[in-house]
Amino acid sequence: MTMPFWRRRISILGSTGSVGLSTLDLVRHYREVHGPQALPVEALTAHRNVARLIEQAREFRPQVAAIADPALYGDLKTGLAGTGIRAAAGPQALIEAAAQPSDWVMAAIVGAAGLAPTLSAIRRGAVIALANKESLVCAGELVMSEVARSGARLLPVDSEHNAIFQVLDQAARDHVVRLILTASGGPFRTWTIEQIQAATPAQAIAHPTWSMGAKISVDCATLMNKGLELIEAHHLFAFPETKLEVLVHPQSVIHSLVAYADGSVLAQLGQPDMRTPVAVTLAWPERTGAPVAALDLARVSQLTFESPDERRFPCLGLARAALQSGGSAPTILNAANEIAVESFLTGELDFLGIARVVSDTVETVVGRYGSAPASLTDVHEVDLTARAAAAETITGRTARRRALG
Ligand code: NDP
Repeated sequence: MTMPFWRRRISILGSTGSVGLSTLDLVRHYREVHGPQALPVEALTAHRNVARLIEQAREFRPQVAAIADPALYGDLKTGLAGTGIRAAAGPQALIEAAAQPSDWVMAAIVGAAGLAPTLSAIRRGAVIALANKESLVCAGELVMSEVARSGARLLPVDSEHNAIFQVLDQAARDHVVRLILTASGGPFRTWTIEQIQAATPAQAIAHPTWSMGAKISVDCATLMNKGLELIEAHHLFAFPETKLEVLVHPQSVIHSLVAYADGSVLAQLGQPDMRTPVAVTLAWPERTGAPVAALDLARVSQLTFESPDERRFPCLGLARAALQSGGSAPTILNAANEIAVESFLTGELDFLGIARVVSDTVETVVGRYGSAPASLTDVHEVDLTARAAAAETITGRTARRRALG
C-alpha cells in the first residue's frame, strides 16, 4: 500500500516568497484536514527575509531553517533559540538544506540562485516540485541529465507546464503536433509602444490576474516570462522549439493546451491560484482537494485569445531565438534578464531597455561560449560573464542618457 501523500516529509526552498507562501498555506490546510502531524517539514529556506523565515519555522517546525545571506545568521539563531530548530546561513547552507532527506521538495527560489539548491535535491533522487523555471533555462541540459541519472522526479509547478503535465498523454507523444502555452499578456497587453516605454515598476508588477513575486511579474509584463517558459517546456517535455506555441489569453482560465494530430486539443482550466498546481504536485500521482474557489465558467462568461505581439514585446522573440540557438544562449539570456529586471525595478533602466540589454548581452557574450554549460561551474562562469556584460551595458546606457541631458 502506498503512503498517503500527507505523510510525506517535505522541504521548501524559497519558503518566504509568493510560491513558498502558497505552499505553506496548503500545508496548513492539510494539517487541518489530516491532523497536525501531516506533511512534516524538514527544511525551509530564504534569502534575506529573516523575520518571515523565523515566523514560518516557529509555526511549521522544520529540522533546519537556512538563510542565504550569511550576515543574518545571528538574527536567525536568536529568533529560533529554544525551539530545537537548526539555524544555518550562506549559499552552502541552502545546498545542504536541500540535501537533507525528504520525500518532496518545493523548488521556489527565484532566479539562477535556485539552481545549486535544486540540483542538490535532484541529486538525492527526491520528487521535485519545480517552480524555479530559471534553473531549467540556465542549465536545462545539466538539470535533465542529473534527473535521469539520479531517478529524481521533476513535477512542473508553473501553471502552464503543470497544465501540460496533466493533459499530455505520454503514450501518444508521436501524435502531439503542438504544445500551446497560454499567456495573460500582462498589464501592458493593450498599451501602445509609447505608453510601454514610459511604464513604471509599480505598473509593471501590477499583474491583471496573478499575484506573484516582483521579478516574475516584470517578466510577465515584458513577456520574457513566456519566453523562459518556452525554454522550460522544451526541457521538461522534450519537444522541439517548432512544436511550442504561445497564445495570449487574458482571462488566465485555460492554463495551457496540447494539440494532437487527430484535431483534438486538450486543455486544463482552473482559477489563477498557484495552490492548484502545487496541490497537483504534492498529491501526485494521486489527486486531493485544495482550498481553491471553484471555477464558475458561466460567471467568467468569455474566454478570448490573440497572438502575441513581438514588436511591442520583443523579449518573447529573444527567448525563442536563444532556444533555437541553444548552447550557452539561454544561460546568457537568463542572466542578462535578471540584471536588467533588477535595474528596471530600481529605476536605473527604462522598461524597453530590458529587451535591449538582453539582446546586446546575448550578442556580445554568446561567441565566447559554444556548447551548453555541462557542469555547475560552467553555468556559473557563463552566468557571471553575462551578468557583468549586462551591468556594463546598463552603466553605459545610463551614462549616455545623462550626457544627453
Ligand atoms: P518571490 O520573489 O516571491 O520569492 C522568491 C523566494 O526566493 C523567496 O523565498 C526569496 O527569499 C528567495 N530568494 C531570492 N533570492 C535568493 C537568493 N539569491 N538565494 C536564495 N534564495 C533566494 O518569487 P516567486 O515565489 O514569485 O517565484 C519563485 C519562482 O517560482 C520563480 O522562479 C518564478 O518564476 C516561479 N513561479 C512563480 C509563480 C508565482 O505565482 N509567484 C508562478 C509560476 C512560477 P526572501 O523572501 O528572503 O527574499
